[in-house]
This record gives sequence, structure tokens and C-alpha cells, in this order.
Amino acid sequence: MLYEWIDERFRLPEVNVPSLGKPDPETAAGMVRTRWGLAEAPAPNMVHLLEAHGVRVFSLDPDHAEVDAFAVWRDGVPFVFLNTLKSAERGRFDAAHELGHLVMHGSEHACSGPEAERQANDFASAFLMPRASVLGHMPSGAHVDQILRGKRIWNVSAMALTYRMHDLGLLSDWQYRSTCAELSRLGYRSGEPQGMSQRETSQVLTKVFTALRSKRVRPGAVAADLGLTSEEMNRLMFGLTLTTFEGKGQQATAAATRSLSVVP
Ligand SMILES: [Zn+2]
Repeated sequence: MLYEWIDERFRLPEVNVPSLGKPDPETAAGMVRTRWGLAEAPAPNMVHLLEAHGVRVFSLDPDHAEVDAFAVWRDGVPFVFLNTLKSAERGRFDAAHELGHLVMHGSEHACSGPEAERQANDFASAFLMPRASVLGHMPSGAHVDQILRGKRIWNVSAMALTYRMHDLGLLSDWQYRSTCAELSRLGYRSGEPQGMSQRETSQVLTKVFTALRSKRVRPGAVAADLGLTSEEMNRLMFGLTLTTFEGKGQQATAAATRSLSVVP
């Protein structure tokens, strides 16, 4: 409903998410990278990237902390919902994982279960840490301190980079297990010490609510239109409204904001 409210009033980016059922996750990730012009470069802000290609990204209500994230196609529009309680690095991985579901398990190739989860994880790993990029930056048999420096190149968790390096043959089975144990001891299983300073959040929602505010439409008025409280709406929007937009102003007519472009 929130998306429809916005969609009626703003021109949002067009959907540019391919549906690729056949290729393996590594190939599918490469195809999406090529289509989006990323080549082998580290992925930029994942929420902004998804939004620029037409994915509508919202946050999950923190009451549903047990859900990592989920994605769904609805009337040809892809949606991703992200958990905001995990580390920023894991948030990026979740976004790439859900992109994998949209690309590989969309409406045409619906599938779920452990195999689909494994494929989505492999997609996310390859999308965030392209093979050539990792092979070019990380030495074979890298030590934990090298992994902790290296993870900043791709803004991934130390565990995710360790998994990818093992996957690419840069860590032996034994090195992989001992690195995971060491990272776990240092607190990298449950969190991401000295990780990214800021969580990635929505650019579209920021632009929409900035534009609304310039028209003196307050977030509380939008929420009321939808039969939500401000707090309920805020939980879908990465907490952006309470921190950024809730200010004084009058409710304007919805028509005043119609057709305002928020395409980046
Ligand atoms: Zn999944």
C-alpha cells in the first residue's frame, strides 16, 4: 500500500531485473553485473543499486527479527524487504541474496527450500565478490589480519570473504576451518567489529519524503492516508521518517506532488 501510494505520485525507476532460470549462480551473478555495467568493480550501495534498477526496497518491521529478509515479485514489480538489526555488511549480503532469488527464482522459476537458499547465497557471494577481483586482491592462504583488511574492499563480512576465498581455492579446507574458528573467537560470527559505519538505506524513500516535505506533506499525513501510525510506517522505511523527515507542516493535496520525478 505504501508503495502504491508512492507509485501514484512519483515516477519511479523502471524495472531492469532479468529473470535467469538456467545458469548457475556464479554465471547469473556475472550476467546481472554485465547488464548493470558493474564489470568487476566492488558493488556500490546495494539498496541504491537495487532501487536504480526498479526494485522497491523496504525494511522489515523489527518485530520480525527472526526473518533475515525476503523478496517477492508482485504484478511484475520486484520487492525486497531487509532486516535492519543485522550488521551493515550482512545487510548488503541479504540484499544480494534476495536479488539472487528475484533473478533465479522469480515468478517463472518459482522454487524454494535449502537448494534455492544455497543458490541465492552463491549468487550473493559471486555478485559482491567477483572471482577476478578476489583473485586479484587476496593472497592464497591469507591470514586473518589480511582478510580483515580485504573485506573492506567489497564491504562484506569477514566470514563471507572467508567463505568466498575457500570457494575460489584461496583457502584449503583446513585453513578455512581454522580461519572461521579464529574469526568466531574475535566476535565475527555474531557481529562485525569495526565494520561499516553506516547501514545502507533507501535513496528512493529519502527522495520521496524530501520532495513531500518540500510540498509540506508530513510523513504522519502519509501514514494516516494508509491507515498506519507514523511508527508503523517508519518501520518499513529503515527508520528514515522519524530521524529525517518528521517536521512541521500542513498536509497538502496529494495531487500537488503527482508526477514529480524521483529517478536518480
Ligand atoms: Zn533466501
